[in-house]
Amino acid sequence: MNTKIIERIERLKREKNAIILAHNYERPEVVDVADVTGGSIGLLTAAMETSADLIVICGVDFMGETAALLNPDKKVIAPVKNVVCPLARQLTKKELLDAKRKYPDANVLLYMNSSTETKALADCVCTAGNAVRIAETMDGSSPILFGPDHALSYYVTKRTAKEIISIPDHGMCPVHHKITVKDILKAKAAHPGAKIVAHPECNPEVQDHADYLGTTGGMLKFCADADAAEFLIADEVGLINILEKQVPNKIFYPVSNTAFCRAMKKPTLVKIEEALENERYEVVVPREIAVDARIAVERMFKCS
Ligand code: SF4
Repeated sequence: MNTKIIERIERLKREKNAIILAHNYERPEVVDVADVTGGSIGLLTAAMETSADLIVICGVDFMGETAALLNPDKKVIAPVKNVVCPLARQLTKKELLDAKRKYPDANVLLYMNSSTETKALADCVCTAGNAVRIAETMDGSSPILFGPDHALSYYVTKRTAKEIISIPDHGMCPVHHKITVKDILKAKAAHPGAKIVAHPECNPEVQDHADYLGTTGGMLKFCADADAAEFLIADEVGLINILEKQVPNKIFYPVSNTAFCRAMKKPTLVKIEEALENERYEVVVPREIAVDARIAVERMFKCS
């Protein structure tokens, strides 16, 4: 069955000059039909560089919205409507405005995994890979309001002398927070020679046990280059599929099989075919937030 649907998807891509971009956490069969897979910055870069007229983004809401606001001349569609990232929703516009009022001198640096309406109020956006570098470039001794992920805020705070204020206090990715230190210790006992590789969205105690911390793209590179044959992956389980495809000569074990992001698994081959056929669901960012959100995202590319 998959062969037929894959053929139809490939035909639609050719007919419509379309490209499929899929996040590293997507289902394996979605990854297989994607032209580009990657973390959020990799997908955004591909969206900006492509000559395709139609971009299908398989990911969560803020990814499609960010691609759309950076590419106003291209049509960006998502195979499933309103796939909300629970982390991105944890900082509301009101909370951000309240924090800005409380700390009027502070700069605002928001993680890519934030809503587009809060990005529009930020000075700059960042990923886990460039957050420290961008924090360092922010002016003077002003504190930095950083959100919505408290775990990433911990990661940045450990690596910069800047004053970092987390907004909200305890924003977190519910998927990465399922991975515990107990899971790490159990996995390490079973595979004592394996390196521990973790995403900075994992809680601070898990981060403190890692041999390497970084984005999904960074983890791929580390595992490919490291002088080790086995790795314990503290990340969403979908990354194991990508690692096994891209680094086939090494062995990867998930630290926890419970770290499964339901939102990322919503796009299916059927939904992708329907999306291409009907050119839906178009991602449209309201004009009143698109301009300011775009400025904050473009600053990230300039600073990194
Ligand atoms: S893994 Fe976490 S941050 Fe990533 S999309 Fe899922 S809920 Fe959002």
